[in-house]
Amino acid sequence: MLPLPLEAGTYDYRLPAGLSAPPGSFVIVPLGGREAVGVVWDGEPDASLPAHKLKNVQAVLDAPPMSETLRRFVEWVAAYTISPPGAVLRMGMSAPAALEPLPQKAGWQAASGALREDVRLTPARQRVLDLLGPGEVRSGSELAEAAGVSPGVVRGLADAGLLVPALLPRGAAFPLPDPDHPGPRLGAEQDATAAALRAKVAAGEFGVTLLTGVTGSGKTEVYLDAVAEALRQGRQALVLLPEIALSAQWLDRFRRRFGVNPALWHSELSTRTRRDTWRAVAEGEAPVVVGARSALFLPFPALGLIIVDEEHETAFKQEDGVIYHARDMAVVRARLSKAACVLVSATPSLETLTNAETGRYDHLHLSERHGSAGLPEVVAIDLRSHPPERGRFLSPVLIEAVRDTMARGEQAMLFLNRRGYAPLTLCRVCGHRLRCPNCTSWLVEHRAQRRLQCHHCGHAEPIPQTCPECAAQGSLTPVGPGVERVLEEVEALFPDARRIVMASDTIPGPAAATAAAEAIAARQVDLIIGTQIVAKGWHFPHLTLVGVVDADLGLAGGDLRAAERTLQLLHQVSGRAGRAEAPGRVLLQTFAPDHPVMHALVSGDVAAFMAEEAAGRRPGHWPPFGRLAALIISSEDEREADRAARDLGLAAPRAAGVEVLGPAPAPLALLRGRHRRRLLLKARRDVPVQPLLREWVSRVDLPNSVRVQIDVDPVGFL
Ligand code: ADP
Ligand code: ZN
Repeated sequence: MLPLPLEAGTYDYRLPAGLSAPPGSFVIVPLGGREAVGVVWDGEPDASLPAHKLKNVQAVLDAPPMSETLRRFVEWVAAYTISPPGAVLRMGMSAPAALEPLPQKAGWQAASGALREDVRLTPARQRVLDLLGPGEVRSGSELAEAAGVSPGVVRGLADAGLLVPALLPRGAAFPLPDPDHPGPRLGAEQDATAAALRAKVAAGEFGVTLLTGVTGSGKTEVYLDAVAEALRQGRQALVLLPEIALSAQWLDRFRRRFGVNPALWHSELSTRTRRDTWRAVAEGEAPVVVGARSALFLPFPALGLIIVDEEHETAFKQEDGVIYHARDMAVVRARLSKAACVLVSATPSLETLTNAETGRYDHLHLSERHGSAGLPEVVAIDLRSHPPERGRFLSPVLIEAVRDTMARGEQAMLFLNRRGYAPLTLCRVCGHRLRCPNCTSWLVEHRAQRRLQCHHCGHAEPIPQTCPECAAQGSLTPVGPGVERVLEEVEALFPDARRIVMASDTIPGPAAATAAAEAIAARQVDLIIGTQIVAKGWHFPHLTLVGVVDADLGLAGGDLRAAERTLQLLHQVSGRAGRAEAPGRVLLQTFAPDHPVMHALVSGDVAAFMAEEAAGRRPGHWPPFGRLAALIISSEDEREADRAARDLGLAAPRAAGVEVLGPAPAPLALLRGRHRRRLLLKARRDVPVQPLLREWVSRVDLPNSVRVQIDVDPVGFL
């Protein structure tokens, strides 16, 4: 199998005499005039191919073969998502350099008999030699540093023949986390829950457990205990986080618990770190990996535990290339690896909750916050009776609360899930709205950069001085708030407050996130203004007030899960308040205080809300009580997109319990210059949709310029 999106799956080659390549081996083969690396797959060769047509395998690479488990996983994901297996395989070969022999560096070894009495050694030289045990090899720079001498001293020893060159061992790239390193002492409820999880891991079998608990109840500490158990069993653990790049605080806690750093896996690693990590995982030398969804495709030989933290997060859904949900595929990978799987959330998805209720998953729950902290009080501010001043976005009630909080020396956070200054720019004279040329979306003003940006395709342009439609001067007006505009309002209200904006463009990576978290923990900040990146996992002990600027924001747009997602996000943000001694408060600015989401947040009764969601979805067979799959048809030519969508619509499968909705223009009808149409297949739970979809798409002949993406279990509907 070649890591390419080829429909055929596997190709046949001849293995020349003298080469051995059992299934899983990485091999070099000729492919259309060049060389490609592929994996020897299982199964029978194509008997109809005449032997003389077969090309030879050119070489077998000296890398750990891909395990049977991982091969079955690749096949499973391909079949479920209706992707070419090679496209999935590519995710399992994402560190090509790891398949090459690893470069070995040279270092120094003490010459035998080097400590002879008759050689006179300076104290500096002696210190270097003292560092080297018999047979030990260390690099020159390491020796110089450890001995506190200049590199010249090491060179001098070499010139004198007292050090001889030798190859450095490829030492373990990742130190072993110590499962018995003294971590925080667990409370009684935490301990009982951790014991139950440890037992699952120790059983060494597949099983899924949902771990829920209020924010701040110590879910992380509890599942780290399960990680410790996997280590004691000599197995590897994988922790999937939705936003690995922002996980600085999480890594601190891992270090506190285990004394060392885990291996990291995400898209921003350097080529070299990728190679070393992939190889260490394959050789069992990376006992714990913390990663983004792509870490599921790493070559673990001894996986014993997969944790999916914040399992409800949509970031686990990959929306391009192979479209898959890492939470769901984590369960599959765990099953194939006979590993325990733990899904963690304060507000689990209805999918997972339903699996727990029907007994497919076990369910453990932590009911109290750790220590003396109570849950924050949540209050809705009705914007109809307490409106902000004209052109402003903060209600007097919220402003007062911020003032009081800061007067007590505590921190406040204002949450608005919108980057930039204003989501829309409008001409006051002619009503023209500034749109992205490539997408169906408004351009978002980013005042700090003095630019307009499309948040879908990245298109950016300077803010025009005149209206591009009617040429009026200075008529363009920002409409609505983004975090930058809230910042402006706060600057006017509280000029002395120390402020920080946390959004993906102001906190671009782990280093910035760490710096921000440290400044907040050290009380160098009074007021935090942030988008959804402030919602996740942070623990700020002095933060006692959370103000949600627009609690209704996620509710518009008629998406199946809009209410569920808004609840999850706002619950998570609310959970940032009052995590230490001082009690927390949450104020929700809303025009719909009677909406079930606001009720659930104010009453804290998330379970009742989810029960109502379930009751609403069950009769119509909406997920998780039925299945959905979307077809997204796109072309640069609008008429072609329409024709293809119509043809696919006409060929739609007709079967009992199956319904096809559309075609309809996608909400993002134009994206990156492509016109998009959607069809939605809705089926009862007992209908296997993959065969239907495969047959459907193969029945229609489409021009090459038309692309059809199949999204099984869609999460987004844009
Ligand atoms: P959750 O994941 O449920 O929101 P966390 O695991 O983040 O909760 O715990 C919240 C805070 O309480 C963290 O700072 C954590 O270090 C601390 N904490 C939780 N349990 C303990 C414990 N047993 N001992 C000490 N600190 C704890
Ligand atoms: Zn765009």
